Amino acid sequence: MIHRKSRDEIKKMIHAGHIVALVHQKMKEVLEPGISTKELDNIAMKIIKENRAIPTFLGYGGFPASICTSINEHVVHGIPSENETLKEGDIIAIDVGATYGGMVGDSAWSYEIGKVSPEVHKLMVTTEESLFAGIEQMKPGNVLDDISKAIEAVANREGYGIVRQYGGHGVGHEMHEDPFLYNYSVGDKTLIKSNMAIAIEPMLNLGCDDVVVASDGWKVSTKDGKPSAHFEHTVIATDDGPIITTKL
Ligand code: MG
Ligand code: MG
Repeated sequence: MIHRKSRDEIKKMIHAGHIVALVHQKMKEVLEPGISTKELDNIAMKIIKENRAIPTFLGYGGFPASICTSINEHVVHGIPSENETLKEGDIIAIDVGATYGGMVGDSAWSYEIGKVSPEVHKLMVTTEESLFAGIEQMKPGNVLDDISKAIEAVANREGYGIVRQYGGHGVGHEMHEDPFLYNYSVGDKTLIKSNMAIAIEPMLNLGCDDVVVASDGWKVSTKDGKPSAHFEHTVIATDDGPIITTKL
């Protein structure tokens, strides 16, 4: 069942998304070699709470933190740790969720720590490009497959792997609502209607598609150990074009 959001729900989603964007803005400032992912989590938690929101991820399915931090070959769902510190040349995907007034904002962004290799930089730029190619298709009258195809086309152009097991999703009262959104075409003809909200989130790999889940049950890594990038925005379809809630 796909919920279309009311005007009031959209207002709250924009507010929640703004708080998520504030966290990302801060992340960009503090990211440097030597900082631990646990420190990043503490900073994110503080901003979310100062803005009278709830960290959506904390306790979700038992997840123990406010953000997911996934470095290099880690794709998604990494648990922040004081034993995990960033170093020059790393990339890190930070996924943040905030709930305000009962409505959720969900956004992941990948960041370069210092100077990364040209091929990794290209992966980052291209994954971000695929996100915006997807967002462009988030309009009433299109179908979900239009978003999937747009993301896939950008990934295929560069020969990148596309993570198959995870994808975008409806978002609103819950972080994960219907529908599921594939990052590659499966021919899903579900109609996009105005005031539908979807978290669009391509995860592209420098190598193959395949991923494995760690023994902690959370951290997902590429099977070939090559880097992966992840970019996500919460987006609402409207007759006047897509609204990205999770940006400043
Ligand atoms: Mg997310
Ligand atoms: Mg998401």
